[in-house]
Amino acid sequence: MMGKSHLVISTGVTLSAMSLLGLQITIPAVAVAVVSSLLPDIDEPNSMLVRTAVPESLLRILQVSLIGAAIYLYFAGIAEPPWNIALALLVGSVSFLPSRRLRHLVMLLIALALFAFADAYDPWNYIAACVLVVASVVPHRGITHTLYAVAGWGALLYFVSPGMEDGGSLWIAGSLSYGLHLLADSLTQRGITPLPPIPVKLRLKLMSTGTKKGSAVEKVCVMLTLALAVYVFVLV
Ligand SMILES: [Zn+2]
Repeated sequence: MMGKSHLVISTGVTLSAMSLLGLQITIPAVAVAVVSSLLPDIDEPNSMLVRTAVPESLLRILQVSLIGAAIYLYFAGIAEPPWNIALALLVGSVSFLPSRRLRHLVMLLIALALFAFADAYDPWNYIAACVLVVASVVPHRGITHTLYAVAGWGALLYFVSPGMEDGGSLWIAGSLSYGLHLLADSLTQRGITPLPPIPVKLRLKLMSTGTKKGSAVEKVCVMLTLALAVYVFVLV
């Protein structure tokens, strides 16, 4: 399923459900719902969340500055030859890493920085840092599409948000939106394995990516979500 569909369906249904349950819909709750709708796909090579967090332009700037740093290290005389060459090659070679690797490196560095200044924007920095670390180390299509991940994400939000005035509904927004992403994925050809190592696969095969029927089902889901949102927020 497309990232945009996940964004609309998970966020739309989550906020509608919260409104129906009488929960307060705050800006942090909306933000958490939006991030959670895309979070399970963070281990995809072209994850929408990762591409938004670390845009291509930032990677290009990083590459150029690494090459610049390599040239500087070679000429600056900080290390004696041949160590200046070794140092320059080491720094320069990082800039030739494939985009995905480079992104992960940037994410880890940002996570380290967030942990270092952890008290400044409590609890958002902890949440962001944990997400970045997980995103840069999890294997492709691994643990993110399981119920363990829903529980882990919900627990993280639950335990870090009491410090906030209106943090009460954050974990509900997050786990609901995340769970709806998995539910939507279980309708696809690819399906999900919710509780590994138990070899049970949820796969309704209602939509296979790239087919006409698949995109039709996807569109219907998006339309139903919008209808629900209009019903809840405009008519009720
Ligand atoms: Zn997914």
